[in-house]
Amino acid sequence: MRVNVSSHDLKVLDHKHHLHPFTDHGALGVDERRVITRADGVWLWDSDGNRLLDGMAGLWCVNVGHGRQEIGEAVRAQMSELSYYNTFFKTTHPPVIELSEMIADLAPDHMNMVFYGGSGSDANDTIFRLVRYYWDLMGKPEKKTIIARKNAYHGSTVAGASLGGMGGMHEQGDLPISGIHHIAQPYWFGEGMQSGMSEDEFGIWAARELARAIDEIGEDKIGAFIAEPIQGAGGVIIPPTTYWPEVSRILEERDILFVSDEVICGFGRTGEWFGADTYGTKPDLMAIAKGMTSGYLPMGGVIVSDRVADVLHEKGGEFYHGYTYSGHPAACAAAIANLTIMKREKLVDSVRDQIGPYFRERWLGLGDHPMVGEARMKGLVGALELIPDKKDLMKRFGDVGKVGTIARDHSFANGLVMRAVRDSLIISPPLTITEEETDELIARAHKTLDDAWSTVRKHGLA
Ligand SMILES: *Cc1c(COP(=O)(O)O)cnc(C)c1O
Repeated sequence: MRVNVSSHDLKVLDHKHHLHPFTDHGALGVDERRVITRADGVWLWDSDGNRLLDGMAGLWCVNVGHGRQEIGEAVRAQMSELSYYNTFFKTTHPPVIELSEMIADLAPDHMNMVFYGGSGSDANDTIFRLVRYYWDLMGKPEKKTIIARKNAYHGSTVAGASLGGMGGMHEQGDLPISGIHHIAQPYWFGEGMQSGMSEDEFGIWAARELARAIDEIGEDKIGAFIAEPIQGAGGVIIPPTTYWPEVSRILEERDILFVSDEVICGFGRTGEWFGADTYGTKPDLMAIAKGMTSGYLPMGGVIVSDRVADVLHEKGGEFYHGYTYSGHPAACAAAIANLTIMKREKLVDSVRDQIGPYFRERWLGLGDHPMVGEARMKGLVGALELIPDKKDLMKRFGDVGKVGTIARDHSFANGLVMRAVRDSLIISPPLTITEEETDELIARAHKTLDDAWSTVRKHGLA
C-alpha cells in the first residue's frame, strides 16, 4: 500500500472512487468516513491515530481476533505451493480435502459434506438452488416454495435478499423473487410483549406460524424452511426458549428441508460449534461463512446432510452449479489455520463456560441503565434495546433509528465499535476477548449510554 498519504487525502480518494456497501452515498461526507489501518487482537487503529475496541469482530466474523500471523503464514505457504486450482471437472486439491474433513468432524453427526463458495450470500444462493434440485430429484418438483422469516438476513444477492425479510431491501429491485413466503419472527421485545402473551406463549405462537404457513400453502408445495438460530443483522433476536423446540417438533412431522443459516452463529458464536447444537435443531443444510475463516480471506459454503447428499449420489445427474473460486486453496488454508486455532485455544468451550458467562453477566448489568429496556446475550452475541421511558417498556422513540444512530456515534467517539439496528445497540466481539478487555468494553458501553441519554434528553427526544 502507498505510504505517506495523509489521512485526509485517503478520505478524499475514497470519496471519489470507492462505492461503499450498505451506505447512504448522499449522506456520507468526505471526512465522516473512518479509515482503518491496522488491527491486533480486539483492537483497531484508524488513520487519525484513534484506537478502537472492535465490539463487532469486524462484521461478526473475526472470531479468533485480528493479526494472527499463523493464518497469514499458512496462506502464504499455500500460495507458494498451489495458489489456485478449480474443483470442477473431477479435480480437487489437498487443502479443500483437509478442510472438508475438518468441517464434517465439527458439524452435527448427520452432516458430512461441504460445498464451497466465497460468502454467506452465495451460500444461500446455492441453498436456494440445491433445495429445488433436491425435490426435483425426489420426483416432487412441486415442492419449490421456501418459507423464511420477516426481518431475517440471508445476504445481499438476489436470492439472499429475497430469502431475507428486510423490507428496505425488498423495496429496491422488486424483491422478493417468487417462491418465497415470509412468516413472523420470534422477536419478544419488539413484537411479543405487545401481544399480551407471555414470552413462552409467544415463542410457541411464532413457531406455529410455520405450521400454519405449511398448512395454508400445502406441504406438497413447500421445499424448505430457512432461519438463523439467532437473527443477527435483524438486531440479535434471541428467540424465547420455547421457540426452537416447537419448530423442531413441527419439522419432525413435516416432510420439508430445514436450513440453518449459521453464517453468524456457526464457529462458536453461541458457545457451541453451531447454533443448531445450541438449540438442538437438526438441519438438512447449513449456510456458513464469516467465522469459518475469521474473515482472513473470503469464504463461505454449505454443509450438506447425509439425507441430501445421499440423494445427489444415488440419483446421479449433474447439478449445474459452482463458482470459479469454490474451495479456493488459499481460503481453505486460512480456514484450516483458523479452525486449528479455535480448537487449540478451546475458544468454543470458553464462550460456553468462561468468557461467555463473564461477558453476559456484565452486559446484562447494562440493563439497569435508565435508557435500556432490555439487555440480552447468548454466547458472545447480544443487544441493548434503547427506550425513552423505563417505566413503560412498551414505549418507543418517535423516529425509529434516530436514537440508535446517536448512540452508535457516541460509541465510536468513546472508542468502541458497536452497531445500531433500529434503536438498539448490538455487540459481537472476537471470541478471544479477555476479562480485562470485557471490563473495558463494558465501561465504554456504559459511558456511551450516559452520553446518548444526555443527548436524547437535551434534544427532547425522550
Ligand atoms: C452476513 C450474513 C450473510 C451474508 O454473508 P456475506 O458473506 O455478507 O455474503 C448471510 N446470512 C447471515 C445470517 C449473515 O449474517
